[in-house]
Amino acid sequence: MATGSINVSVENIFPLIKKFLYSDHEIFLRELVSNATDATLKLKHLTSIGEVNVEYGNPFIEIKIDKEKKQLHIIDQGIGMTAEEVEKYINQVAFSGAEEFLEKYKDSAKDSGIIGHFGLGFYSAFMVASKVEIITKSYKDEPAAHWICDGSPTYSIEAHDKTERGTEIILHIGEDDAEFLEESRIRELLVKYNKFMPVSIKFGTKTETLPKPEDAKEEDPAPTQEVDNIINNPNPAWTKQPADLEDQDYKSFYRELYPMQFEEPLFNIHLNVDYPFNLTGILYFPKMGQDMNMQKDKIQLYQNQVYVTDNVEGIVPEFLTMLRGVIDSPDIPLNVSRSYLQADGNVKKISSYITRKVADKLTSMFKNNREDFEQKWNDIKIVIEYGMLSEDKFFEKADKFALFPTVDNSFFTFEELQEKIKDSQTDKDGKLIVLYASNKEEQHSYISAAKDKGYEVLLLDSPIVSHLIQKLETSKENISFARVDGDHIDNLIKKDEETISKLSDEEKESLKTDLEKVVPKEKYTIQLEAMDSNASPFMITQPEFMRRMKEMQQTGGGGMNMFGNMPEMHNLIVNTNHDLISQIKDAKTDKKKERLIKQSLDLARLSQNLLKGEELTDFIKRSYEMVK
Ligand code: ADP
Repeated sequence: MATGSINVSVENIFPLIKKFLYSDHEIFLRELVSNATDATLKLKHLTSIGEVNVEYGNPFIEIKIDKEKKQLHIIDQGIGMTAEEVEKYINQVAFSGAEEFLEKYKDSAKDSGIIGHFGLGFYSAFMVASKVEIITKSYKDEPAAHWICDGSPTYSIEAHDKTERGTEIILHIGEDDAEFLEESRIRELLVKYNKFMPVSIKFGTKTETLPKPEDAKEEDPAPTQEVDNIINNPNPAWTKQPADLEDQDYKSFYRELYPMQFEEPLFNIHLNVDYPFNLTGILYFPKMGQDMNMQKDKIQLYQNQVYVTDNVEGIVPEFLTMLRGVIDSPDIPLNVSRSYLQADGNVKKISSYITRKVADKLTSMFKNNREDFEQKWNDIKIVIEYGMLSEDKFFEKADKFALFPTVDNSFFTFEELQEKIKDSQTDKDGKLIVLYASNKEEQHSYISAAKDKGYEVLLLDSPIVSHLIQKLETSKENISFARVDGDHIDNLIKKDEETISKLSDEEKESLKTDLEKVVPKEKYTIQLEAMDSNASPFMITQPEFMRRMKEMQQTGGGGMNMFGNMPEMHNLIVNTNHDLISQIKDAKTDKKKERLIKQSLDLARLSQNLLKGEELTDFIKRSYEMVK
């Protein structure tokens, strides 16, 4: 038996590993299973290039718990190590065997899928183990080696009688980490990190039901047998060629990824690129609701089929973090800060590649099956609108396929919309006025007033729509959006002839004085307008600008909170040509005047959902009195 002392720097490294490097102890298992996978794939590679003449067969990795001895075993049938290699690869911490391997087989190793660096790899075992043993037999014709180290810089190494090729790592789990001797905990970790690793992973056995023999009686139980329990799917869909996959395969992979998710995805995008960076993956568009925050953190990041994280912030553009699926790239640096990550050249390229692929997919869906695209629009618009707001490149492409639904369920692209309204909906300066509603129920009376006049009314109801409108108004020329209840339509859109007012200037003055006695001036600005005699006598509107600024502040962005604190101000538009207004003007007593104004104002408030509490109760009481 030989003993030795590991490189002095180790003395400083162990406490570091324990304390700082991995806040999560659990990743030791990912590291060790990754090493086992590497060792197996290396053997596969060497046999495939004829360097090694052994039967590769169908090797697997096995994880075993020995509760009594408080041991966890990770066993592979890979390349193994000679005693000399253990000295070299394990004892010289800073030395990375994988790196040397890659150096040696640079070109042919590219496709063999050898897992790169996750940090300190093997030594992370000491985060959970008070003692670690390696029993390993190289594919080379040399005796097996047995290495033992208790976490101090001294170790021992001697020959071992192991005859099968491969490596067994034995962890003597420490007191504080007893959780890693629990079957359920280990299973959880294997499913989390190794679910799609490229080499089969066996953990225990499971009971499988066999078909009943022909002569079995009805009440006989079906026979069962114990079989190896394989944790992972070594060939997940994203590693395959898109041409080899059917729609159904994508759907079942979605279920594999999200077993608790019952709703099917709407469509998917298969990512597959190997130059100038390597990236594969499948992104899914789920049915999206209106809540933007709930859906994040569903995309999983892998490196060569090893799970890394579900926080893809900085790698996937923000607006796409609402999607689901997998991306797998060895070219994303790990264990670095987010800000470093975002400055990385490859990561930037990856992010813009993903944006482009998503835009291309949406473009082709729009072109190939417009009807289907329209049907999906409301479930996906939030991602697209968010993308248009945050990524200029995406805006350019989405501008061609982004849809603007009307309250009657027609869908226009922006260009189509412009064409549709260019002759009928302009203001006095010739600017196009796009009318929209945000809620069909609440704004019903305004919508029908606009439709009566033959105008198109869009239904824009996503939470970020005020931001998008702002963006469209600044990036397009000569166009302005107005919510149907933002101002009186006749004030917005130019009409061929002016309506002549029935009231003289004097009469208007006196009407205004009467109104001011009843209408609270801190809430309403009174505007007298001569309109069609069958337009509403009283109408409450909320100035577009103020409302939009407030909305933008509520959904984030928009800088200082100067609008949020402003009191709610509305316009009260009084149609001087309506019969009721003449009636108010001609009322015999002040009391009657006041009663008519009050009742009309409350009706207008009611239609805007502004009449509440005690005022509403009073209004209803008063109305019953009048009906009686
Ligand atoms: P890395 O994997 O990043 O090189 P590790 O510390 O995890 O760093 O491992 C160091 C080296 O030890 C590996 O590169 C490999 O040569 C060797 N090694 C580790 N585990 C195994 C194993 N199960 N079978 C064969 N060699 C192994």
